[in-house]
Amino acid sequence: MNLNEKLAILQRIYAVYGEFLDGRDLACKRGCAHCCTRNVTLTTLEGYHIADTLAASGRIDLVGRLEVGAEGNRFRPLVTTNGIAEICLRGEDPPEEESNPDWGECGLLTENECPLYGVRPFGCRCMVSARNCGETGAADMDPLVVTVNTVILQYIEHVDADGYSGNLTDILLWMGPEENRDQYREGALTHPPRGLIPNRPVKALMAPPRHRAEIKPILEAIGNIPPRNPAG
Ligand code: SF4
Ligand code: SF4
Repeated sequence: MNLNEKLAILQRIYAVYGEFLDGRDLACKRGCAHCCTRNVTLTTLEGYHIADTLAASGRIDLVGRLEVGAEGNRFRPLVTTNGIAEICLRGEDPPEEESNPDWGECGLLTENECPLYGVRPFGCRCMVSARNCGETGAADMDPLVVTVNTVILQYIEHVDADGYSGNLTDILLWMGPEENRDQYREGALTHPPRGLIPNRPVKALMAPPRHRAEIKPILEAIGNIPPRNPAG
């Protein structure tokens, strides 16, 4: 699969997910940004898409903002979503991961708004809540939404199986320089910076049996990337 095909799938995933959320009773609204923390993660495919779009619109300088505080704490996953699925398939427990919203807000957040909202990664899109997190202290997410989020994270990682996952700061600072984006486009970007981990293809979807009928049309709309039969 070439990069343009991967980007087309990514756009389809974002559109299908947007339709899935339409009509849901969510508290999320413009200017609500308690969920915009330094702990957002994404894939290199999404990072490329963001950086390339910013560069094309003359806004690549936004990425430079992440250098401020780049030494600070942030969530750096030890295992990808598909890696966790494989660990669960083996009947083992995933490693404990440390993440704390008090580590600070996303370095891109500007007056409580996202300056790259239209191209924000799935890790931001999937942060939704039925009640205002500022009042409750945590997102109130329907279990079906959690399942759909997890499965879509698996799909995006699968599409970028030759790439990497990691924290938004690490991925975007890597994708910021034009030569790195050129190399990624050619499939030649290797030697990731500290904190990034290799993506993995889907071995099994983390969808509990009670949700399989409901997620089927979503997977079909995305294009049923293998495996076609969800296994929980
Ligand atoms: S997930 Fe919570 S903090 Fe984020 S926009 Fe929705 S209600 Fe606001
Ligand atoms: S990229 Fe945008 S939506 Fe995502 S955490 Fe940062 S400011 Fe919020």
